[in-house]
Amino acid sequence: MADPLVIAFAGNPNSGKTSLFNALTGARQHVANYPGVTVEVKHGRHVLTDGTEVRLLDLPGTYSLTAYSAEERVAREALLERQAVAIVCVIDASNLERNLYLLTQLVELDIPVVVALNMVDEAERLGLVIDTRRLEKLVGVPVVPTVGRRGDGVTELIEAAVKVAREGRRPKPFTLSSHVEEAVAEISPLVADLDGLEPGRKRFLALKLLEHDPELVSGAHHRLPQEVLDRVEEVRAELEEHLGEDPEILVADDRYGIAAGVAREVVGRSTQGRARTAERVDSILTNRVLGLPVLVLIMWGLFEGVFRIGGPLSEGIEVAFGWLGATLSESMADGPLRSLVVDGVISGVGGVLVFIPQVMLLFLGIALMEDTGYLARAAFVVDRIMHAFGLHGKSFIPMLLGFGCSVPAIMATRVLSDPKDRLTTILVVPWMSCSARLPVYALLIGAFFPAERGGVVLLSLYFMGVALALVAARLFRSTLFKGPSEPFVMELPPYRMPTARAVVVHMWERAWLYVQKAGTTILAMSLVMWALSSYPKPPAGSEISDLEYSIAGRAGKVIEPVMAPAGFDWKLSVAVITGFAAKEVVVSSLSTIYGVGADAAEVGELPSLRESLQADPAMNPLVAYAFMVFVLLYIPCIPAVAVVAREAGSWKWAGFLVLWTTGSAWALATLVYQVGRLVVG
Ligand code: GDP
Ligand code: MG
Repeated sequence: MADPLVIAFAGNPNSGKTSLFNALTGARQHVANYPGVTVEVKHGRHVLTDGTEVRLLDLPGTYSLTAYSAEERVAREALLERQAVAIVCVIDASNLERNLYLLTQLVELDIPVVVALNMVDEAERLGLVIDTRRLEKLVGVPVVPTVGRRGDGVTELIEAAVKVAREGRRPKPFTLSSHVEEAVAEISPLVADLDGLEPGRKRFLALKLLEHDPELVSGAHHRLPQEVLDRVEEVRAELEEHLGEDPEILVADDRYGIAAGVAREVVGRSTQGRARTAERVDSILTNRVLGLPVLVLIMWGLFEGVFRIGGPLSEGIEVAFGWLGATLSESMADGPLRSLVVDGVISGVGGVLVFIPQVMLLFLGIALMEDTGYLARAAFVVDRIMHAFGLHGKSFIPMLLGFGCSVPAIMATRVLSDPKDRLTTILVVPWMSCSARLPVYALLIGAFFPAERGGVVLLSLYFMGVALALVAARLFRSTLFKGPSEPFVMELPPYRMPTARAVVVHMWERAWLYVQKAGTTILAMSLVMWALSSYPKPPAGSEISDLEYSIAGRAGKVIEPVMAPAGFDWKLSVAVITGFAAKEVVVSSLSTIYGVGADAAEVGELPSLRESLQADPAMNPLVAYAFMVFVLLYIPCIPAVAVVAREAGSWKWAGFLVLWTTGSAWALATLVYQVGRLVVG
């Protein structure tokens, strides 16, 4: 019996490969585990109407044929080893341009290809009309429309694949831009005589050498004479000098250009002309010009909402805690226990719990953006900006999660496969202002800025964090981690109307963590702070206040000179130190400090922390702003530092992060304060 025909299914994730594969193989399939990777390749069998048996391979979903991820490597290995006599490139018709990018590479492998134009039902629903014949002409391989979910078109598809395989119809690669083609023409003859290299793979290898593909270049090392590799380097350098861009990026740009061009040629709108609402919405939300202002507007709306709705609610909770403190004060005998409960526990934990409305509203906003599908659009909008700063498009996802909490955000950098992209992102994520910093802002903005400007002041802090993170990323990419970032095509999920339940659950899960933290870390830190700011007691009859005489007071005085250029007095300095444990602790420390500092005779009418701050002559809006800038930027909390050490693989990076962020925080806060003083006079 002749060797069975093996046909490989390649395509982007979610293009419908598995659906088509299942429709063809039914139960005749099994999963192969590749050693060392979790990526699967499924094998299956299909029998044609004439009785011929074909074997099918369902390759892992990939956007590209580089060697950046395990999926790409497994898919590429399988194809390069010539396991398959034909490739079925599965393309999501509703996302033609993004899916064509992979096809531009598959046609270079010197293996017959057919395109499964899948999800044509979805494309139709979106009002897209695709000219299949024209597409066939432009890409030079047969195109078969399919609906994988229903199995429509699969018989025609497999027959077309067997036909090109039997005819040995090799596809013709796309012509790239002239400079790239010239470089390929220089390299091709050098590899032509390579042992074991089939003539049809010459162009593929030449392109990969030009792109400096790590695996193929090092693999080629064994066989390629050094002078060839040197010559390749020369060609690469010339190209880069000529066009000012890494050849890998140039090649990727050419491919995107081809994909975009083909898509534009073959996709039309249905004659009814009624672009779906989603399309119209998308044309604004992801518009090249409007996308960013719209994003800013949405974020601004979110912060306004957090402030205007959250503020009054939070004042209600403040009143409740004030009442609780006063009641307990009256019913308990004067002494250390009363002080511990009222100044330590109630002020410390209460000071943080007061901000639950703001935190919940922020999480509600993030949950809404995530669940509607806007988050991915936002990522798409900032993709180009991210690249300009040397970050990967995918870096946006951990950065956005950083608005919630740095710890999961740093763990989310695992989506980045390039170690340089990943380290850069890890180091800048802490400047995404996490929710623990919100209480600090809410407290100080509430105390020192008029309500109608609260949202803008808050937004300015979040923006400063983002802007500085981008600048830092650029800096790191041009010093510590040189080299181009991995090219990336962003996938846009469909819009969804989130269910109220899902949004509430999402929001609540996160808000609950905040409450738990108030009950554990913050409670513990409040007790420590209470002890440190209550003892030792000054000798009887001394003029000095309890607080100034205490350990915390003295520690604050020691660092006060260091913080003075930023405008912080010793009380703020103490709060800053305690914030290492968690940033909310800054608020609970201030509560405790000002609580202990309040005149004991006035017990029963304890001033709120906000009022205490307003009454402090050392405080004013400028100091408050400089302080918020410092809190935004300085050392992420201890748990975040520990995660950085683990994810970056060494304490060296964690140590660097601590010094770098705290140094920058001091410099920026000082700058704000000093410039502010000049302006305000
Ligand atoms: P894979 O990641 O490429 O293997 O994609 P899957 O086969 O797992 O399909 C991804 C999703 O798209 C699943 O929910 C399928 O039910 C759906 N799907 C697959 N083919 C079609 C199609 O032709 N039309 C529509 N509307 N959905 C499809
Ligand atoms: Mg699949």
